[in-house]
Amino acid sequence: MYEVTIEKTFSAAHALLEIGGKCEDLHGHNFTVQVTVAGDVLNDEGLLLDFRVLKRWTDEILELLDHRFLNEVPFFQGINPSSENIARFVFGEVKTRIEGTALRVDRVTVRESANAWATYRGDRS
Ligand SMILES: [Zn+2]
Repeated sequence: MYEVTIEKTFSAAHALLEIGGKCEDLHGHNFTVQVTVAGDVLNDEGLLLDFRVLKRWTDEILELLDHRFLNEVPFFQGINPSSENIARFVFGEVKTRIEGTALRVDRVTVRESANAWATYRGDRS
């Protein structure tokens, strides 16, 4: 099995509601997003997926979040725009774009800072 990972960044603000009984007021992050795609078969060029394609998809997706107040983005209505949920959002968007190929989205990691990040790997129950 092969994996291809790209990394992109975006900046956004969020406010988190009721975490451990406490609210986190409005604040911002420079988020780093890593998207990993996996598959077993390389194309004729010896690539699993052209990095440029995965970067373009990720740019399109992060454009929906960049410089936004995440609580107002439709996906996050009624849920906390946590790093976990941002990862799930990006995962779903990449999955939509990759459908119909032999590839799968393996995981999306969203890093809020150098020492705090969350990963979504899809529903593997
Ligand atoms: Zn935060």
